[in-house]
Amino acid sequence: MSKSSQTKYIFVTGGVTSSLGKGIVSASLGKLLEARGYSVTIQKLDPYINVDPGTMNPYEHGECFVTDDGAETDLDLGHYERFLSTTTSQANNVTTGRIYQSVIDKERRGDYLGKTVQVIPHITNEIKEHIQILGETGRYDIVITEIGGTVGDIESLPFIEAVRQLRWEMESNAINIHLTLVPYLSAARELKTKPTQNSVKKLRELGLQPDILVCRTEHHLGSDIKRKIAQFCNVERDAVIESIDAESIYHVPLLMQSEMLDKVALRKMGLKDETNVSLQTWKEFLLRLKNPITEVKIAVVGKYVELQDAYKSIAEAFVHSGAANRCKVLITWIQSDKINPSNVKKKLDNHDGILVAPGFGDRGIEGKIEAIKYARTEKVPFFGICLGMQCAVIEFARNVLNLVDAHTTEINPNTSNPVIDLMDYQKKVTDKGGTMRLGAYACQVKEDSKSFECYQKINIKERHRHRYEFNNNYKIKLQSEGMKMIGLNPESNLVEIIEIDDHPWFVGVQFHPEYKSTVSNPQPLFVGFIGAAITHSKKH
Ligand code: GLN
Repeated sequence: MSKSSQTKYIFVTGGVTSSLGKGIVSASLGKLLEARGYSVTIQKLDPYINVDPGTMNPYEHGECFVTDDGAETDLDLGHYERFLSTTTSQANNVTTGRIYQSVIDKERRGDYLGKTVQVIPHITNEIKEHIQILGETGRYDIVITEIGGTVGDIESLPFIEAVRQLRWEMESNAINIHLTLVPYLSAARELKTKPTQNSVKKLRELGLQPDILVCRTEHHLGSDIKRKIAQFCNVERDAVIESIDAESIYHVPLLMQSEMLDKVALRKMGLKDETNVSLQTWKEFLLRLKNPITEVKIAVVGKYVELQDAYKSIAEAFVHSGAANRCKVLITWIQSDKINPSNVKKKLDNHDGILVAPGFGDRGIEGKIEAIKYARTEKVPFFGICLGMQCAVIEFARNVLNLVDAHTTEINPNTSNPVIDLMDYQKKVTDKGGTMRLGAYACQVKEDSKSFECYQKINIKERHRHRYEFNNNYKIKLQSEGMKMIGLNPESNLVEIIEIDDHPWFVGVQFHPEYKSTVSNPQPLFVGFIGAAITHSKKH
């Protein structure tokens, strides 16, 4: 633990183009620093005007990642948690919308004492305060702050200016890492450094001189190119770091280590680098990942499957749980609105497990219910998450209890059998932003269940993001036909886990277990699901 005055700040900016992997490079550097014994957290600044990504369509933004404290955040925070041992919180994701909201609230309260409120200094000061919140907790030696967008974007200017000021004020306690692209022109058979030079020039026009350049490339840079970039961008030769396309995101920390990104960063911050990097668990994970002894096929049924970023944490949880089982997990992404009673067998045949994904709205819901009926009756391991669990309850009510119009009131508000319904407090909610049941809630797991076998404990905590709930009025009826309420919230008595007895592995959860799966702690239900899929694959 360190005093806040000694906390070091690493600002990560990006140039040339988006999608260079700033999030993964930040997470990898964080991992390497953590592996040397430093306490590290990573923060993301997003220059858009939404207060948080919670109200954004997955097509706009990919997955919305939820933290323990119920913040709806950027999916990069998922990477930070999967790589590091610290969890993130609301303070780890700051948007332009949140900054302005806070400044306008202060203005209305009269906090600015009659001054004209302006981008400089009021917005930039607010950004600076938000950047320092994590450091001021005293919990971290190093705070890595990733600035979303690309240098030169109009909307990121106040963030860059805030970073410029902080670097100036913090002197050697802050450094800037700039991520750029070194493209390969196949016609010329050459790597080109001009985009990187121009991007650094742009950054310097804004008053920021990078200390380290991380250059994304498809081919090795070679010492001449590195020397050239160093010379034209005013960075030291060993501070030009190659970031070559990796086999998987989980290989990036090792690539960054061999490029000595952590050593150079520590030197620039005036921190010791004598400690050894201990990446034992990480390397063991990679070894298991690369050398599977078995293979399963999992069907993921969802609404947005053409856009796998919408299910980022689920895909990564399969990587972790696959490695834990020494099993290669092959995922077939199946669009739920393409499933109907006549093609369901064809689409799902040959799969060793079926996961029905979370979601909102009615598109594809009947396809999800059809997929669940198949999993239940054909005894294929089934895992339903959030809407996936709700659909499992609907399917069971319709097809086993014969409540033919059973539904969730999200889709059919007039159903005579609302097996999934709004809680009273939600009925009064009109605003969409930040008003769902969000964040970590306690759950008690009944022993003698598949879920208990996975968790090996009664008291668990998982993260939620939904408005609708299991309707307790149907508990007894469902139970009498074999659907078991395995997980309950100890305070509200809400049903959080359902299972079906007469089935090899049928588990539905109201929460989102995928958010808590990490390299060092693969999520137990995912591990159990893959285990059940392996058993299923051997039988067939
Ligand atoms: N739409 C459902 C609800 O709001 C499920 C949400 C989800 O799957 N995250 O309750």
